[in-house]
Amino acid sequence: MTFDSNPLFGKLALIGVGLIGSSIAYAARRAGLAAHIAGYARGGETLETARRLGFCDSMHDDLAAAVKDADLVILATPVGSFGELAKAMAPHLKPGAILSDVGSVKGSVVRDVGPFVPDGVHFIPAHPVAGTEQSGPEAGFAELFDGRWCLLTPPPGTDAAAIEKLKDFWHRCGSDVEIMEPRHHDLVLAITSHVPHLIAYNIVGTADDLEIVTESEVIKYSAGGFRDFTRIAASDPTMWRDVFLNNREAVLEMLARFNEDLNILQRAIRWGDGDTLFNLFTRTRAIRRGVVSAGQDSAEPNFGRNRSKPDEKK
Ligand code: NAP
Repeated sequence: MTFDSNPLFGKLALIGVGLIGSSIAYAARRAGLAAHIAGYARGGETLETARRLGFCDSMHDDLAAAVKDADLVILATPVGSFGELAKAMAPHLKPGAILSDVGSVKGSVVRDVGPFVPDGVHFIPAHPVAGTEQSGPEAGFAELFDGRWCLLTPPPGTDAAAIEKLKDFWHRCGSDVEIMEPRHHDLVLAITSHVPHLIAYNIVGTADDLEIVTESEVIKYSAGGFRDFTRIAASDPTMWRDVFLNNREAVLEMLARFNEDLNILQRAIRWGDGDTLFNLFTRTRAIRRGVVSAGQDSAEPNFGRNRSKPDEKK
């Protein structure tokens, strides 16, 4: 990525400077996408840490000051907080500005933010499909979006030039960009991200509740597959609570299908139907190979983890 001496935006305002907000700051800086990057945090340790790390040119605990004169404003807090933040910042948005977000759910963003968008401000919801289980301002890094998708869900009639500008922004942050309809986005993400997180939270909770297996055994033998669930289940509780509360319908629809399929597997195990199990496992192996060949994960055994790492020692 090269530094661009002619920035795309005069001022970029990041509302929330956790994993995603700070990563956008680093990526935008890397590519020279804004002459000034302003960050907003509601105070406390997050504000202090962001100031110390210095990934924004200015840090504010005042929303109006953060968005003042900004050409691009990006909401990067949990989706349940978007409505209130949008309402509070609306009178201070610059005419002609683009208002976007990074929320993992898109229908609720249209519902909660849409009504507060002033005339003359271009509202373009977005979702960079990139992340880690870490959170907070210390978790961010410039490469987070490299080679990942960013999905834009502009409402019908959105200014085409504003869409192109936001596409350009995400391209230069390292992402591939696609336009999607919000409901379709929420269904796709329910199965590719939200339900897998729910399964991880659930299986780790189930293991924790088991009385016949001691806690030390769960940790000691976790390399048997459980460990990969614990990574996902370590994701930020507030962010994920808000995802499930705001993508309720799509998650429930996908969970119903998941439960039906799980019952089929349960039945196959009970009745010794090896063919059903073998055929499914063959199909899923091909899907994993597809994920790797699409560049969305490493082909290394065990995700490239070093076998001699201490956490794998018996
Ligand atoms: P994060 O690291 O936990 O950061 C969220 C930040 O929002 C925190 O700094 C928090 O500040 C702030 N915040 C929370 N509630 C707030 C409120 N009511 N008002 C003002 N600030 C508030 O989370 P993240 O991973 O960056 O996620 C941010 C957004 O990105 C979410 O909407 C999420 O759906 C989306 N997203 C996440 C991922 C992922 O994998 N993590 C991927 C794509 C999109 P405090 O420290 O003051 O609480």
